[in-house]
Amino acid sequence: MPGRAEYQALLSKVDAFAARAEAGQAPWLSCAAGCDGCCRTRRSAWAVEVDHLRRFVQRLPPARRAELAARRRDPAVVAGDRCVMLDPDGRCAVYPARPLICRTHGPAVRLPDGALSWCGLNFEGLDPEAVAATVPGDAVLDLELLNRLLALINQRFVDGCAARGEAPPARADLDAALAPPAG
Ligand code: SF4
Repeated sequence: MPGRAEYQALLSKVDAFAARAEAGQAPWLSCAAGCDGCCRTRRSAWAVEVDHLRRFVQRLPPARRAELAARRRDPAVVAGDRCVMLDPDGRCAVYPARPLICRTHGPAVRLPDGALSWCGLNFEGLDPEAVAATVPGDAVLDLELLNRLLALINQRFVDGCAARGEAPPARADLDAALAPPAG
């Protein structure tokens, strides 16, 4: 399917860049497994990302799939503001397949308007000017560029679905990846 391989390649590049960014910003980061500050929100994802997540979930053991599917229907989860993929221990149930946006949270990133943004738990005690002066420029991910690449890849995926007569998953909340396969 067009778009899938490109999306996987983009994930790998972003992971490599994120590792460099985290190394460059390490003295000011408190990110660690189990810290779920970035996940206390309901996220949506592009069609190619929902497809990637869905295929990951379908490869999970049946009991784990059933657990996640039940969570999707849990009224407390539905009414809450936590990501449906967030496990009770603060870890991500789909970590290897999590969307791009999840891979960029924590360290300082450059927003489309040129400003820097970072998790409020990081850079403790530094004001925005101090962060800008401190963070190495080559250790900051450019979200505008990333969003453009993702939009292009998503379009290839959507066009590929159309060419095969298939309906792509809509941009949707992440819990769409837990829905039973159509048909
Ligand atoms: S998909 Fe995973 S990393 Fe992303 S918000 Fe949900 S729990 Fe957090």
